[in-house]
Amino acid sequence: MICLGIETSCDETSIAFVEDGNQIRANLISSQVEIHQLYGGVVPEIASRKHLENLNVLLDEALREAKLSWKQIEIVAATRGPGLVGALLVGVAAAKSIALGLNVPFIGVNHLVGHVYANFLEHPDLKFPFLALIVSGGHTSLVLLKEHLVFETLGTTRDDAAGEAFDKVARIFDLGYPGGPIIDKLAQKGNPRAIEFPRALLGSDSLDFSFSGLKTAVMNWKKNGDLNHYPIEDLSASFQEAVVDVLVEKVRRAILATGVKTVVLAGGVACNTGLRARLNALADDYHVKLHHPSPRLCTDNAAMIACAGTFQYWKGAKDELDADVTPPMAPLERLTCINSQIFASPHLFSSPKLFIIIEVQEVEGLCKEKEPINLSLVLSSLFSSGFIKA
Ligand code: ADP
Ligand code: MG
Repeated sequence: MICLGIETSCDETSIAFVEDGNQIRANLISSQVEIHQLYGGVVPEIASRKHLENLNVLLDEALREAKLSWKQIEIVAATRGPGLVGALLVGVAAAKSIALGLNVPFIGVNHLVGHVYANFLEHPDLKFPFLALIVSGGHTSLVLLKEHLVFETLGTTRDDAAGEAFDKVARIFDLGYPGGPIIDKLAQKGNPRAIEFPRALLGSDSLDFSFSGLKTAVMNWKKNGDLNHYPIEDLSASFQEAVVDVLVEKVRRAILATGVKTVVLAGGVACNTGLRARLNALADDYHVKLHHPSPRLCTDNAAMIACAGTFQYWKGAKDELDADVTPPMAPLERLTCINSQIFASPHLFSSPKLFIIIEVQEVEGLCKEKEPINLSLVLSSLFSSGFIKA
């Protein structure tokens, strides 16, 4: 069974063909990182436009690489959410059009399910039950799977995601975007014990995560000038060690609580060399199997979406062609750069109205940690600083 997978949830456009759920015939990824680097984070409107430009080119190239013709496609799967609304719409609209044109089923896939299912691409014999540590730019969760596509969430982040913490700390030190790979590389040359950053374990049996305190601690150390005499390598290693300590401890607790014998990693932070090494050691100590997808399958890619889509189809799923995208409305204080997104939403109200959604994060002096945002202050400051115009 040939599945076409489409992934456009954030800043990677990806097209894949996967046969029988786990054989990758093609998996092309076009990253927009260089464009968004200019802004220090993903700009949603630019991301959507680039997906539109890239999609058809990648489709043709992937068909060639997979040595397939349109007629051989039997199902079409696309990321439905979570992600940027405009970006998701490009991929989902393309997938539905192709499904309609070829008269084959369209399957909407949850991006995080895709990340977990990346493991089936390289380990088709993966056995249930297993624990999945999902650590991406937008999510951090520990989930238990006892059977295909049934997810039991054991713990999740209460604030920043692990990848988000890497990206934000890299931003504090102007290291570049995305921060995870840069900090990972620097950390390999640094002393992880140089600085004792806080580890939020949230009680002795909690499986939840919290990384915003760590990020604030780094910020405060920088503000107070305490970090001036530490090389950036030591700082990176110490920060990474604090994140890894928490992730490893939560996995350890989950192994004890569930008795599972297999753990899988999922999401971009699963590329982190420090995290992989420490979890490998933990797996040895606790006699569990640890699987992590190769780096290309950890970050956003369409092969994982095609894989998950095929398993959904085998379980009887099929989405209607009027199925909508499912982006969560991100809380104001958690987004990575200042953007404005303007869109009309006529289906929500009887008469079309124009909405302006302003995404704000850490505008100096406006939003403090754990304090509610004073929206009118934010708005008036954005007007006066020229970010938005009346
Ligand atoms: P999302 O699905 O939320 O877009 P991805 O799964 O694509 O996220 O992963 C991107 C995130 O992974 C970014 O936050 C990036 O900094 C992080 N990341 C990538 N490689 C590494 C690494 N080697 N170490 C730590 N974080 C990493
Ligand atoms: Mg992702």
